[in-house]
Amino acid sequence: MLKKFIITVFGLGAIGLYIYFLVLPTPPCSKPVTYGIGTVDTRFGITKDAFSSAAREAVGQWEQAAGKHLFTEALVGDVMVSAVYDKRQEVRDRLDKMGVQIAGDKESFTALQKKHDALAAAYDTAIRTYETVYARYTAEDALYKEGVARLHSGSATRDDSRLLETKRLAINAMVDELAIRKAALKEQLLSVNALAEALNQSVQQHNTAVDDFNTVSGTLPKEYEGGLYKSAADGNNTVAIFTFTSHAELVGLLAHEFGHALGLGHVEDPHAIMYRLNLSNTGRINETDVQALKLLCVLK
Ligand SMILES: [Zn+2]
Repeated sequence: MLKKFIITVFGLGAIGLYIYFLVLPTPPCSKPVTYGIGTVDTRFGITKDAFSSAAREAVGQWEQAAGKHLFTEALVGDVMVSAVYDKRQEVRDRLDKMGVQIAGDKESFTALQKKHDALAAAYDTAIRTYETVYARYTAEDALYKEGVARLHSGSATRDDSRLLETKRLAINAMVDELAIRKAALKEQLLSVNALAEALNQSVQQHNTAVDDFNTVSGTLPKEYEGGLYKSAADGNNTVAIFTFTSHAELVGLLAHEFGHALGLGHVEDPHAIMYRLNLSNTGRINETDVQALKLLCVLK
């Protein structure tokens, strides 16, 4: 009886331990995080192979610092890494084409603001011209329709019908002109908006620079979302990269998001890869990042 009781308790205990073991979270860095490369939007102008080698470079930095294997590339991993093209890269590409570079100093902000204001004024003028042409078109079109009605009622002369044909051609030309103007307006508006975004980012960088000197600053700039790590309850975690203009920046963003995938949070050093803003242009982890990793992984 006692023996049976002991076996039962021990057995239940073992099952309990087993279940406990299954739900127990694994300590950080105790087993490699597997990652797979998902879709890489062709508009980034980078091949999937190049993207995957940037990911290996990012991962390599953490592994070298830890002196151990932290990641394994697989077809399908715990983390799927993708390059997602949206407004952010669209704006970057447009600013690049315009030769606009974003910096946080007062001079470049003022220069950007000048450029923005000039473009916005040109856009306003173009809108007014469009409205004038459109008004002329509406008036001409109404006259033409009146003429057509006269023609159908039989009260028009041969001259009237020739004039009507000339008018029809003129109206068609106006329709074409309006279409061209409208397309140009759309382009202009996108450029004005891109510059407005550049101004926002310049302010953010400026605020950050100010924060370096003034740690009691009231409002902090929001995290610049060049990339995003999302952990999901079902284990399908994702890293999405949204915007980069250089290899170093891509590697830096990937290193930041892989850092999150390891379990790292943000650090206070603006030059670190794990800083909340994407300010490092080296794409390399620094000493602050290494210290954070060692603390997380309990390494010497
Ligand atoms: Zn982050």
